[in-house]
Amino acid sequence: MYLVGAGPGDPGLMTARALELIAAAEVILYDRLIGPAVLDAARPEAELVFVGKEGGGAAVPQEETEALMIRRAREGKTVVRLKGGDPFVFGRGGEEALALRAAGVSYEVVPGVTSGLAAPAYAGIPVTHRGVSSAVALVTAHASEETDLDWAALAEFPGTLVFYMAVRQLAEVAAVLIAAGRDPKQPAAVVEAGTLAAQRTVRGTLQTIGARAAEEAIRPPALVVVGEVAALASELAWLPKRPLAGRTVAITRARAQASSLARELEGLGATVVQAPVIRVRRLDGPAPDLGSYDLICLTSANGVGALFERLAAAGQDARALAGARVAAIGAGTARALAERGIRADVVPERFVAESLVEALAEVPVSRALIARASEARDVLPDALRARGAQVDVLALYETVVEPLPAEVLATARAADYITFTSSSTVRSFLAAAASGDGDVSDGSRPGGLSQQTRIVSIGPVTSQSLHEAGLEVDVEASRHDVAGLVQALLGDAMAQPG
Ligand code: SAH
Repeated sequence: MYLVGAGPGDPGLMTARALELIAAAEVILYDRLIGPAVLDAARPEAELVFVGKEGGGAAVPQEETEALMIRRAREGKTVVRLKGGDPFVFGRGGEEALALRAAGVSYEVVPGVTSGLAAPAYAGIPVTHRGVSSAVALVTAHASEETDLDWAALAEFPGTLVFYMAVRQLAEVAAVLIAAGRDPKQPAAVVEAGTLAAQRTVRGTLQTIGARAAEEAIRPPALVVVGEVAALASELAWLPKRPLAGRTVAITRARAQASSLARELEGLGATVVQAPVIRVRRLDGPAPDLGSYDLICLTSANGVGALFERLAAAGQDARALAGARVAAIGAGTARALAERGIRADVVPERFVAESLVEALAEVPVSRALIARASEARDVLPDALRARGAQVDVLALYETVVEPLPAEVLATARAADYITFTSSSTVRSFLAAAASGDGDVSDGSRPGGLSQQTRIVSIGPVTSQSLHEAGLEVDVEASRHDVAGLVQALLGDAMAQPG
């Protein structure tokens, strides 16, 4: 059982140990302060349990979370309890460790980069600075959480004050500090969503910061920094303004496949909502006898991974593909092959089955293997058979519908953009949406999407599925891969008033 700090949100700020444990975990319990990309490294079959607040409502009771941790640990599972920032800084990590100890479950604590230091750093505020501040206090403004605060001592504290959980009580906290004798002219700053794509900073003085934050509609999670160092942000702020800053983009593809898309969008400043409505499940089976084919077609990076897994299990490697031509449906598939030492012979210009058929027009084929998902269109096998080839279709994996936590579903429905990267993401999103709220219909669009959410499709096949579901496509990528999708979305965002 591991109590792991996931850092403040930017996945680059996770520790090597945290990443290692996330990749090894069989069960991961996480809550809402975990940045979306943090779970990317999890194994596809890992059990991911959301134990945070659902849709702004009540949190999963702490005892329930602790009981689940203990149950899973006793089952002999590798369990990771992931917490935002550092688990022992206002994270109730201490309580959970005590519960584990009482239950006789052994545990390891993995510290994380706490938001109270990281968010100011990303806003250009050094919490200590020679000649300006030689002490820093980490304080929770949520008094009921911990013991009552000694405001007089905090007012006199000779250094920087960093308040966690202060957004709702900000004006009150400032007033109480001033009443207790802290200088109302002292610089102060609020950092919202620190280290995440949506990071914003509002500055003022202790006197004005409450009103300033209200004006700018600052929302949690945010930190409040009170002290002379807050003024340094005007000189030291270093985060560049990014083109998708302030936009939220929902991603519906399987978590295991979403990372490159999420990273590119976040790199452009978007806030990514991972709403993985499907999960990829590898199908068991023997390694195919590849020696008998003159053409091997792979239709996804996933299929490549699954094929090589089967080969490895049979003691084989890339040499099993030596005798055949290898075709990849797109750049991602070709890259997955290249990583395993195979350069695809055929990659069509447009990444749909029809284009692969065209690209294969001049290639002589007598026996072909198509390695792919169990449910897929038959364009490619039909076309090759029509040319007289003998075609075997090998189903290596299937996609299964993944239920979405209500909060994730709600955030995805209200996002500025929602992206669909295959027909199965469309169908599964609608299924997840229907099971998420029974038959509630409030006049919103199919799937409960808000009227403002713009729908982005990776290509014509996915668009067709969206049309059939009664959804209009606002943006269709002209290159049917991650880069093409991002480019199309960016183009649209630039043309839309933000
Ligand atoms: N264990 C966490 C803190 C949990 S308490 C840590 O070490 O960071 C939750 C509070 O942390 C929030 O109310 C907010 O004040 C702060 N917080 C967490 N992540 C944040 C972020 N990315 N930006 C700003 N504040 C954050």
